[in-house]
Amino acid sequence: MQIKKRKEEKEKIEEMLNTIKAYGITDKAVFKAMRNIPRSLFVEQKELAYEDMPLQTKRMQTISQPYTVAFMLFIANLKKGHKVLEIGTGTGWNIALIKELIGKEGEAISIEYFEELAELAKENLKKLSIDATIICSDGSEGFKLLGPYDRIIITAACPEIPKHLIGHLKDNGIIVAPVGRLFQKMIKITKEKSKIKIEDYGSFRFVPLLGKKGFRY
Ligand code: SAH
Repeated sequence: MQIKKRKEEKEKIEEMLNTIKAYGITDKAVFKAMRNIPRSLFVEQKELAYEDMPLQTKRMQTISQPYTVAFMLFIANLKKGHKVLEIGTGTGWNIALIKELIGKEGEAISIEYFEELAELAKENLKKLSIDATIICSDGSEGFKLLGPYDRIIITAACPEIPKHLIGHLKDNGIIVAPVGRLFQKMIKITKEKSKIKIEDYGSFRFVPLLGKKGFRY
């Protein structure tokens, strides 16, 4: 029974990955991480865990759509050993995937605004013995204390391009963040010595970033 369940889950994960591949994503490392970190462990709606859609979590927040998560991880170009800050922990699924991608030698830090979600994420990560630091705080101003970071990934909609976080990046560091009010553009900021490159990767939808540099304080 247990084995059959596992097999069904594996098949569902492959279906989800096929949907993501159909969008043109070909990042094998991201697919491997998605196979290793079952989304079903992070959501209450188990039957919908592998549908390519966002799902409601606590405090009116969501776990992002798998394609969106894969896309952000793909453009973030994570490497083994990176130090990564995520802003918006939610269920912890994304930071678990990030930790898979950066490996044992990498450092994964994630900030969540709501205590209830930070606790949920900690529990979820514990179930999989994933070593990530979860901080409950307003992450809209970043978390300079533990920086500088190779990557900063924001998983809630920012009112403006988060230029205030560029100083928290290492050289050649990257920020990936959805920016905008009703709809968001996926923005990638690359810090190249004294130059800053900003690229727009198209439209997505996210819950709003809260806090000092967010939409509501
Ligand atoms: N990455 C999450 C989903 C992100 S949803 C996952 O894998 O499940 C966006 C999250 O950002 C929500 O949990 C929300 O509570 C959180 N959030 C919103 N504003 C924030 C802020 N200022 N600091 C930290 N977290 C914030």
